This record gives sequence, structure tokens and C-alpha cells, in this order.
Amino acid sequence: MTEKFDLLVVGGGSGGLAAAQRAAEYGARAAVFENGRLGGTCVNVGCVPKKVMWNAADLVHRMAKAPDYGFKLPKPGHDWALLKQRRDEYVARLNAIYETNLDRKNVSVIRGDARLPDKHGVEVSGTRYEAEHIVIATGGEPIVPDVPGTGLGMTSDDFFELEKCPESVGIVGSGYVSVELAGVLSSLGSRVTIFIRYDRFLRSLDEMLSEEVMAAMTEHGIDIVTGARPRALRQATDGLVLDTEDNRSFGSYQKILWAVGRRPRTSGLGLGRAGVELDKCGFVPTDKYQNTNVKGIYALGDVTGRKALTPVAIAAGRRLADRLFGGMADSHLDYKNICSVIFSHPPIGTIGMTEREARERYGDGVKVYESVFVPMLHAVSSNKTRAHMKLVTEGADERIVGCHVIGDAADEMMQGFAVAIHMGATKRDFDETVAIHPTSAEELVTLR
Ligand code: FAD
Repeated sequence: MTEKFDLLVVGGGSGGLAAAQRAAEYGARAAVFENGRLGGTCVNVGCVPKKVMWNAADLVHRMAKAPDYGFKLPKPGHDWALLKQRRDEYVARLNAIYETNLDRKNVSVIRGDARLPDKHGVEVSGTRYEAEHIVIATGGEPIVPDVPGTGLGMTSDDFFELEKCPESVGIVGSGYVSVELAGVLSSLGSRVTIFIRYDRFLRSLDEMLSEEVMAAMTEHGIDIVTGARPRALRQATDGLVLDTEDNRSFGSYQKILWAVGRRPRTSGLGLGRAGVELDKCGFVPTDKYQNTNVKGIYALGDVTGRKALTPVAIAAGRRLADRLFGGMADSHLDYKNICSVIFSHPPIGTIGMTEREARERYGDGVKVYESVFVPMLHAVSSNKTRAHMKLVTEGADERIVGCHVIGDAADEMMQGFAVAIHMGATKRDFDETVAIHPTSAEELVTLR
């Protein structure tokens, strides 16, 4: 039996749902295939539950300030299981909202493992579905290292299943998942050690941000082991021990968390049968319109290996639907100047080129403005977490090509500046903007 649609979307995560819903708004008959929970990584094991955990950790940092503001608080205890229950209930509500919205928009949800038997259709449990347009939006999954004992460790997916805060955790990896989960765990009571291969975190970001975040983590009591490449993970009598390639052993830890990156979910999808080419890491390459090498098959979101962020997947999905069903022939996502936030403590907001990238591209035409200061939250406190901001400009008119902030509220501050930078703002535009006082954000319009 074959069912016909206008659009078939494999993957009901951020990107897939956005594409299907926008297409349905134009009157297209759309179907989404999902083998897990609606909402994908972001809602279930990514941004959303992570931010709930970050909020809890942020409260710990704020409560630590309370005595400096005259509060006399008992030492706060923390009920991890209660937080998990509330978080899971919130996520379940979001899952249900997705279900309702899809139903309201007449998007069919087809449950099960989808595969492409050829380039014209998608198959689930023996039923074939066909459409002129097929979107691959299957996202990614955590990588675990290929070392003996790797299964003793957990991934970020497993982190969200933890019923209590582990006493001690070793985290392997230097990307944002490692930084964010280390901050959460350490704030909520774990003894945390991070193992990184090189000498700094977040290596794709401006070096200033890596240095500052590393200093902040050390100040918060997180141990950082550099030059550590895992050789094996083993169970000792009192916990897990991590052996590294240079014959060092670390432990024991109650948990080891692998945060060594993510790979695309393409295996078993049948993309080879459909003729869709993959790159050497298994990602699906696309052009700027999300076209794969096969006409009528598109890919978007994490599976493409481009900026792996929820709003990027959503924007790519909506623009694709605008192009295919909304009569907007040139609609596509501009991947330049995409702002991102790392929910560290303090958080990071970043957009555009690093100073190093700008100097490589524009040479002497680059001028950099920086400010290091103590946000007012800490003014009456002996424990002063600093903020650091950097504007990278280029050319005689000092067009802003990079803006990097670490400090309280950087996560909320960056979106507005991203609009200005997206519009081509210059340093002069920033200078001519009257500051909001007293805030941390005002530093960005008063840099000299
Ligand atoms: P996904 O959301 O992963 O959706 C893919 C869907 O496809 C999944 O539901 C999967 O079950 C389904 N699927 C796969 N194969 C099949 C198949 N064969 N048949 C049927 N269904 C299938 N991004 C941010 O912007 N901000 C954040 O703060 C942030 N925090 C994160 C924290 C963590 C710990 C992680 C892991 C990620 C985080 N991200 C964050 C990244 C964000 O979650 C992803 O970029 C986003 O979810 C990608 O959307 P997607 O649609 O490409 O894929």
C-alpha cells in the first residue's frame, strides 16, 4: 500500500517539525516520521532540560551572593529528584503541545523507524509513503569513544535520566556540552573533573572566551586535566577509573560522562539506496537551499553538519517550506552571523568572527575593543566574578564583525546586539546608542 503526500519529513525534531508545519500552513499535505519523542533533541535531551538544570545551578550561584545582600539563609539543600520530576513534567507538556499543534495543522505523524527504499519514498513498518519532496531532518546523537570499557560511561542523553546528583563525575570533552554539564553538576554538588585533549575549551570560539571560562571553572572548584586522551575506562572497587594514552590513571569517579561530540543519525536510513551522498563523517551535504545531490531530497538541521543549533534547524526548515510551497523562490537561510550562547557560569554570548579569524581575513584593518569589569551584582560582594567583552571591527568604518561576551546576563544580552550586527552595524553606531544604566550591556556601547 502506498500513501501520497506533498512533503515527507524524516525526523520530528526542531527542523523537521518547523518544515512540516510551515508547509502545512501553505496547504501542503505533510507527514512527519518520528521514532522517538516529538521535539527531538532540543526538547527532550538538549536545550530545554539543559536550561532547566542551568537555571537551578544559576540559583545556587545567586543564593551564594544572598548573605552579601543582608540575607540570613540556612544552607540550602537540594532535591535533585524533585527537580527532575518537575523538568520531566514540563518536557512532557511540550511533547503534548507539539502533538496538538501538528494535529491542528493537519500534519500526519507516522511513528516508527523510517527508511528510504529509493529516492521517491519513505517506508515505515512495511507501508510506503510517497511525495514530490522529502526532507531528511534526523539530527544527531552523542559519540562515545572507541576504547575498552566505553559502555561504563554515560552520554548527555543519560545525564537527563540521572535520579540523583552523582558525588563525583569525570567529564571527557572540551565542547559546550562538557562545559555546560560540568557547571550544572558542580553547582548542584558533584565533584567534577574535566578531561580535555588539548589545552583549552571551546576551541572554535574567541580565545578570550576559552581563557575566561576556564578561569571561571577553576574558581568554582572544577578540576581540569589537559592533554588527556582516553585509553580505557574500567570499574575499580570504589568507582570508575579513566586511563589515558599517556599512561596516567584518574579516579575513581561515580560517573564518567562522554562529551566528545555528536555524529549525524544517518545509518540505516537508506540514503545510499536513494543515491544521497554523505561526507566522510556521515553528514548530508547541502547547497544553500538545503538541496542534497538528489533532486527532491533535502536535508536540514544537525544532520547536515552546519551550525548545530535549534534556531538554525528551525529557520532552515521554515525557509525551505517557504521556497517549496510558499512561492518564495529564493528563500534560504543565511548561515552568516549566527549568534550562540554557552550556558556556562557565567554565560557566554558570541557572534561573528573570532579576533584570530578577523586578523587572518582582514589583516591590519582589524581593530579590537575590550573591557574587563566586575558586574554590579558583585559590587557588595567579596567574591567578584568578572565580565569580559570584546568587539572585533574591520575597515575604516569599523564594521563590527565579531562580538564576544562572557559575564552575567550575556545569554540575554546578545540577541539584541545580534540584530544590529546582522544589519551591518559599525562601532560608531554602537557609540551613538545611548546606554542603559546601570547594566552590564551598556559596556558594549561605551567601549573606547
Ligand atoms: P533533532 O532535534 O535531533 O531531531 C531529529 C529527530 O529525528 C529526532 O527526534 C529523532 O528521534 C528522529 N529520527 C532520527 N532518525 C529517525 C528515523 N530513522 N526515523 C524516524 N525518526 C528519526 N541548541 C540550541 O540552540 N541551544 C541550546 O541551548 C542547545 N543545547 C543543547 C544541549 C545538549 C545537551 C544537546 C545534545 C544539544 C543542544 N542543542 C542546543 C542543539 C540542538 O538540540 C540541536 O541543534 C537541534 O535539536 C537539532 O534539530 P534537528 O531537527 O536537526 O534534530
